[in-house]
Amino acid sequence: MYIDTHAHLDFPEFKTEVPAVLGRARESHVERIINVGVDYETSKHSLDLARKYPEIYAAVGVHPHCAKELSIEMKGQIMTLANHEKVVAIGEIGLDYYHLKRSSQYAHYPNRDEQIFCFEQMLDLALETGLPAIIHNREADADILGILKSYHGQLRAVVHCFSSNADYAEKILDLGFAISFTGNITYKNPDIHEAIKKIPLGSMMIETDCPYLAPAQYRGKRNESAYVIETARKIAQLKGLSLAEVEEETTKKAKKFFGLK
Ligand SMILES: [Zn+2]
Repeated sequence: MYIDTHAHLDFPEFKTEVPAVLGRARESHVERIINVGVDYETSKHSLDLARKYPEIYAAVGVHPHCAKELSIEMKGQIMTLANHEKVVAIGEIGLDYYHLKRSSQYAHYPNRDEQIFCFEQMLDLALETGLPAIIHNREADADILGILKSYHGQLRAVVHCFSSNADYAEKILDLGFAISFTGNITYKNPDIHEAIKKIPLGSMMIETDCPYLAPAQYRGKRNESAYVIETARKIAQLKGLSLAEVEEETTKKAKKFFGLK
C-alpha cells in the first residue's frame, strides 16, 4: 500500500472527478491520501472530503500565500477543525520567498514578517493540538531551519516537497524532523537526487502535491494521487532498492507520523 501524504483534491482542477481519481489511486494501491488545506476554506473542504471518503484524511492550516488573511478568529476556526478525528496534521504552513523575491510581479504578496508571524501561529497550533506540522519551504531554507530549531524537541514536522540539497536535509533530520518528496524528484535535479541517496529510507515519505508537480512522464498535465508511485520508483532507483522496500518503508513512516489506521 502507498500513501499520498499531500494532495489538494478539493482544488478546482479536480471539479467533480474526485471519485474517479480515488478509483485510479486504489488501482495503483494508493490507499490513504492526506488532503491539505492552504487557508480556512480549503481546510474546511479538506475535512469535508475526509468525512465523505474513508481513505482521505485532512490537514488544516494557513499557507504563507494567505498569511495576511490570518486573524485570531480564523486561528480559532482552524483549531475547531483540527479537533476532528480525521484531521491528522496542521498544514500546509511555512515560508515562501519565491514570490517575495519577485515582488515587482507580486506586489501584494505577504512580506517576510507577515509570513513568519503566520507560520509561528500555526506551529503553536500544532503544539496545542499535538498534531504534526506539514511545512512548505520555497527559497526560505535559512528562516525555516532557524524557526524549526526553536521548536526542536516539542514539535513533530515534515518538510514537504523537499527541494534543497543533502546538507540541508541532514540539518532537518538532525533536528528530528522528517522529509517528503514529490514528483519533482523525477525531473533533472542533481541536488535533490544526492539528498535522496544520503537520507535514510526510514526518514522519508512520499506525496504528489497534486494537481501540481506531475512526474516527468506526465509533465505539463494535471497530477493525481495514483502517480505517487513514480516518486517511489525514482527513490528506489536512486537508492538501489526494490520498489517494494520503498513502498513498505515510506508507508510505515507515514502511518506512524500521521497516526493513520
Ligand atoms: Zn501543497
